[in-house]
Amino acid sequence: MNQQHLPEKKALNWAELGFQYQSTEYRFRAVHRNGEWSEGELITDKMISVHEGAPALHYAQQCFEGLKAQTAPDGRVLLFRPDLNAERMRQAAGRLLMPHVPEELFIKGVESAVRANYAWIPPHGSGAALYIRPMLIGVGENLGLKTAKEFEFRVFVSPVGPYYKSAGLATISLAVSDLDRAAPAGTGNYKIGANYAGGLLATRQAQELGANEALFLDARERRYIDEAGSANIVVAMTGGRFVTPGSSAVLPSVTRRSIMALAEQELGLKTEQRGIDLRGEIADFEEVAACGTAAVISPVGKILVDGNWHSFYGNGEEPGPITQKLYELLVGIQRGEIADKYHWTHEVSI
Ligand SMILES: *Cc1c(COP(=O)(O)O)cnc(C)c1O
Repeated sequence: MNQQHLPEKKALNWAELGFQYQSTEYRFRAVHRNGEWSEGELITDKMISVHEGAPALHYAQQCFEGLKAQTAPDGRVLLFRPDLNAERMRQAAGRLLMPHVPEELFIKGVESAVRANYAWIPPHGSGAALYIRPMLIGVGENLGLKTAKEFEFRVFVSPVGPYYKSAGLATISLAVSDLDRAAPAGTGNYKIGANYAGGLLATRQAQELGANEALFLDARERRYIDEAGSANIVVAMTGGRFVTPGSSAVLPSVTRRSIMALAEQELGLKTEQRGIDLRGEIADFEEVAACGTAAVISPVGKILVDGNWHSFYGNGEEPGPITQKLYELLVGIQRGEIADKYHWTHEVSI
């Protein structure tokens, strides 16, 4: 990397960024036609022109991913486990009868979009990151319920700040929803658009009750924790146990899988992936956190269950020590501040 030739960073107030779309210059696009992927290219047009019959629009034949690029103290640009995003998109494509995006094309698309928008990558220490949104959509002329004949794989990027407004490790609150997010053998474990529009009302209802987000229980018994609208749940329980739901209906979060490994390997906690009976076990919850690329690890201070608020560590006003430690470890690795002994980071050559 030759510092002299790097484009100058945009004059953004990085520390003030929220989690919002910010247009950048380039996006990557490849198309699948007649059974073949095009090589893919960088383009500047942020609009996508699709046929009015496109299956992505009518039948939600589409999936997406979300990951971040961050700047290390030495200026390297790091992705976090992008191979897992490529694999998850492959699974989603298979579930929706879409052609899979080969891992090499996925990584090429992500790296090209990041590199081309170098000026928009938040500098180290700003607290912000470059959010990367790969997507695969079924396009082309269609009317009946059948799979699209053409597909577009697109990757755009946007610099973002924290998902929840208050910076740092501010606590959030959840309200148990009466609505179901995903059925046990449905599509809840795939990152596909079809799972999300139905959750907008649940989020609104949770917010009307004074919470940040809805907490979904399993759809069969309304008893076990599934997840929040866009984040998995982890719970530190009495007796040094660190637990996450074993539900088949939750999205297999890359962040959560990494946190579980850190909890076990670095903090020596006994980790378990199993059904968590919310009402039956809530008295044993010491710390609760929501996790995901966007949410990172957000401590959950309290949960509204059947009209009663239950609060956790420190009366729900501050993060507990386990959440705090996991946040520091995870973010430290992602930002290249601490040794990456798990080989989770992936450098983008600039
Ligand atoms: C994206 C997402 C997550 C978080 O997954 P990461 O891979 O950690 O970003 C959790 N739950 C849902 C429903 C999601 O869409």
